[in-house]
Amino acid sequence: SVPLSFFGGIGGASKCGILVKGSNYMETLSHAEIVVFDKTGTLTKGVFNVTAIHPDDCSEAKLLELAALAESYSDHPISRSLKEAYGMDIDRNRIGDVEELSGRGIQAKVDGHKVCVGNDKLMEEIGVHWHPCHRLGTTVHVALDGRYVGHIVISDEIKPDAAKAIAELKKVGVRRTVMLTGDAKAVGEKVAQELGLDEVHTQLLPGDKVEEVEKLLTQKSSKGNLAFVGDGINDAPVLSRADIGIAMGAMGSDAAIEAADVVLMDDQPSKIADAIRISKKTRRIVH
Ligand code: ADP
Ligand code: MG
Repeated sequence: SVPLSFFGGIGGASKCGILVKGSNYMETLSHAEIVVFDKTGTLTKGVFNVTAIHPDDCSEAKLLELAALAESYSDHPISRSLKEAYGMDIDRNRIGDVEELSGRGIQAKVDGHKVCVGNDKLMEEIGVHWHPCHRLGTTVHVALDGRYVGHIVISDEIKPDAAKAIAELKKVGVRRTVMLTGDAKAVGEKVAQELGLDEVHTQLLPGDKVEEVEKLLTQKSSKGNLAFVGDGINDAPVLSRADIGIAMGAMGSDAAIEAADVVLMDDQPSKIADAIRISKKTRRIVH
């Protein structure tokens, strides 16, 4: 049987916009020792803006059009920003054979031509040479029929409460904070440093994230728990692998909300420390 005050804790949490799916997760949360974050959409807004277009052998307008069209079926935050910058309606009859390559980018036929849009890893995979890029944001390369046609720089912003969220975790007894990201080393390290995270692993594919979490699970103390916080875009498997999966509920994907044990309704990472605080208080009342 479940102690009544656990329900009290769940009710209190829900009033703060923290949805806890069961009383057992309150107990798990109260022993949170390692908190692992996804970056995009979790610690950053996941709202990218195109900040530079660097064509190579085509016009700026053409480069942006190719990228936006190839991305037309994707829901990835990068894809949304490219389509917004393009700003025009997309005739989906022009697009075919779409293949989303998680952690790397996308491949599609546009007007019958093969277009690849994504990161360094994707260009390496398809054997396309890219030129040295501006590294101030996330670089999105574009290849047309196996030929490099340029890159687009998009920038994301750190959520306003993210730094506070990390600092608060230390106050509620979390020993280690980690960020896992598929993004480039320079971008990931800059964000981690700005937020005061203990550790960062970059350029990870979704499968690599699961592996990193497995490693971290073996490193925690016997009573401690590992929480993973993500928006679910490519990280639903990690959400279910962690002792406790926490998902962003507003901008996050349905898969994340499904796979998670705790859902933050307003996507604010500072709510994690609040949730742990409530769970610890609830435990004191129970025991
Ligand atoms: P994160 O781990 O930061 O949440 P993802 O795993 O979603 O990021 O993506 C990792 C990287 O893969 C992105 O930074 C980007 O370079 C590339 N990528 C993924 N999806 C797309 C896409 N639809 N279009 C372009 N690039 C993409
Ligand atoms: Mg993500």
